[in-house]
Amino acid sequence: MRMIIMGPPGVGKGTAAALLCNHYGIPHISTGNIFRELYKDQTEVGKKAKSYVDRGELVPDEITNLIVYNRLLQDDAKNGFLLDGFPRNTDQAKALDGYLAESHIKIDAVVNLKAPDELIIERIGGRRVCETCGAVYHVTNLKPKVEGICDKDGGKLIQRVDDMEATIKRRLGVYYSQTEPVIGYYEKKGAVIHIDGTGTIEAVNALIMKALGE
Ligand SMILES: [Zn+2]
Repeated sequence: MRMIIMGPPGVGKGTAAALLCNHYGIPHISTGNIFRELYKDQTEVGKKAKSYVDRGELVPDEITNLIVYNRLLQDDAKNGFLLDGFPRNTDQAKALDGYLAESHIKIDAVVNLKAPDELIIERIGGRRVCETCGAVYHVTNLKPKVEGICDKDGGKLIQRVDDMEATIKRRLGVYYSQTEPVIGYYEKKGAVIHIDGTGTIEAVNALIMKALGE
């Protein structure tokens, strides 16, 4: 099974990706994780990409594409994979198509998780993280026993800059202008499965499995 998971930041892609990778026994190829692990990557292209990440700049498409292709060549991806965070614009999607066509590989499904902005902002904006151990809480859905204090170690709960409303809105804006068009691109090819991501993890997982005929 070769799949791509798409959806706005905070919609629950990570959770759905874990389900799908576990179910199909395929690797989770997340460009977010790849960029975070570039410090271990000693290839030329890895070092080049790291120089952009270190400067706080976006890694150019040509470099991102090469990193993904290299990852797809590894043994564990021979019989399938799940791409997450890639392609993030239509140029990357077209490049990936060209690469896959050369390798005689076809994407079987594009899973598009959807949720309204207000819900995403509520979900992420309510997140609080323990300064000491990194445990994650939520101001309404997963409250600590004592407000602002970690249950496990008494550490102080803070809101990460990434989780602040202004940051989420900016990331959603980038998503709608650059990444959402990719869904339209794949829709023309008839490969997109739209999933309502507003329910519980169990409900969303059930919808995905049903849509994939599992
Ligand atoms: Zn803690």
